[in-house]
Amino acid sequence: MNDEKNNNGIEAEDIEAIEENQDITDEKPKRSVVGRVFKIGFTAIVVLVWAAIISTIFLRSDDKILKTPILSERAREIYSSAKDDFEFYNVYPQIFMTKDGSVQLAETVYAAGAGELEIGVRIAWTQLRYCVECDRLYTPEQLEKQLEEDKKKQKEDENYSPAACLKVHAVERASLKQRQLYYTLTDSDGNIYPQAGRKSRTKNLNLLLLNIKYEYERVCFSGLYFRLDKNIINTAGESTPENGESEPADKGKGTEYYLNCYDKKGGSLLFSACVYSDGTFINPTTYQIPKSEYLN
Ligand SMILES: [Zn+2]
Repeated sequence: MNDEKNNNGIEAEDIEAIEENQDITDEKPKRSVVGRVFKIGFTAIVVLVWAAIISTIFLRSDDKILKTPILSERAREIYSSAKDDFEFYNVYPQIFMTKDGSVQLAETVYAAGAGELEIGVRIAWTQLRYCVECDRLYTPEQLEKQLEEDKKKQKEDENYSPAACLKVHAVERASLKQRQLYYTLTDSDGNIYPQAGRKSRTKNLNLLLLNIKYEYERVCFSGLYFRLDKNIINTAGESTPENGESEPADKGKGTEYYLNCYDKKGGSLLFSACVYSDGTFINPTTYQIPKSEYLN
């Protein structure tokens, strides 16, 4: 009843006023659409800048475990019983990463008395690749090699059809898969050394399209007694070079020790590096028992 009265009671002035108001309300959405687009754009830029800053910080800082020598419980006991007599070295392998940086070695240490070699491994799962059809992990370097092999074979044979995973298979980021690596330590004489410890930490960042995953490990092997008296650094001072070149008397590299990194599930080799030989640079340093958080 009241509604009817109101509707009928509207006069010309009121109608004009309403129309004016309509003009205003017609313009308003236009302005607010532009404003909204600007606001969304601005917010998106701010979010992207922040995402870039956060992920850069995230990428730049490795988990501290990577460079924390841990060793086995047995080695720590040897250290605790005679701290001053504990012979401990930093070891600097010449090759310490894949060309693409997906697997990197860090802070390799050698506890001479305990016969243990421990290596930090940084795995950039974001950079590693996973082939769906092969159910296999690859480093970008390995996938590049496949492409090169294809090219070579195509030159030799026109009918050769490409076999590289990047050409014929679906390849995705390995960070999307829950895979693990396993390690072996071998030498050029065919020996395999037992693993005496392994600790891992993972950094995982999932932000919109960003999927960053890093794994940091300390892998320790035992039963390693290097001939340190034959090491190039230790023998450099002893040799008396006649032609001014400081080379050790024995130029041979002696036994070479290799760290091999495999895909745990598929068993394929991802990276192998000589971590010690007589020609590897070493430097005496002191060991410290790590924080308890790294021991568990
Ligand atoms: Zn494949």
